[in-house]
Amino acid sequence: MTMRLCRGIAAILITLIFLPATIATAANKYLVVLDPAHGGSDKGVRLTNTVYEKDVTLFIAGEIRKEIGTKGPISIKLTRTADEDLASSERIQMARASKADLFVAIHVNAGFGRSSSGYEVYFPGFKKGSKQQGGSSEIIDDMVRNKFLNEGVRFAQHVMRNIEPIFPRQGRGLREAPVPGFDELDIPAVVIELAFATNIENRKKLTQKDAQKAIAEALSKSIKEYFTTMGQSGEK
Ligand SMILES: [Zn+2]
Repeated sequence: MTMRLCRGIAAILITLIFLPATIATAANKYLVVLDPAHGGSDKGVRLTNTVYEKDVTLFIAGEIRKEIGTKGPISIKLTRTADEDLASSERIQMARASKADLFVAIHVNAGFGRSSSGYEVYFPGFKKGSKQQGGSSEIIDDMVRNKFLNEGVRFAQHVMRNIEPIFPRQGRGLREAPVPGFDELDIPAVVIELAFATNIENRKKLTQKDAQKAIAEALSKSIKEYFTTMGQSGEK
């Protein structure tokens, strides 16, 4: 056997020894795509003369990414890291392309009057009635979809519980509504409406760095809890 051949075999053996470990590590890593809503010319709702929804959502998403870090089993990817225009279709496409495990869009709410306040979480909604009509492949599609919706609801429950201390007794609940583009996502996906820019108290809080950091902490905690409790009450 030549030295060259010897080295070649050694390289293959080393690859075979280390490959399963690499695959296992990758499989245990969860990816969350956070979408700081709006950006660039799309400012979102106004909080002050200089602060808009797009700024608050970007800051909070950035804080979550810092908080989660890169060393643990969860990694965070942001749809945008700067004040730039980004179409919703591109945000959805980014989550699909990066094979994310969870998609979270972060918004600030606005109401017609000043009285609405507090936080709410939206998920895209369960299909009704199609199981009876559909063929077996459609039934399987529905089952897969319902599993993602259930997981989205489970994540939302962590979020509601962790945000509660920041906006006490202002939980507006979990809401089922069609979310544009979410149909194309085959992963759990939710929209968080943090609080109302149209409410004086909520607006004040949303513009404070301390409160923004507290919100980021609450959401980071929710993400960690969601993955660590995954599959504990039934199949994964
Ligand atoms: Zn918004």
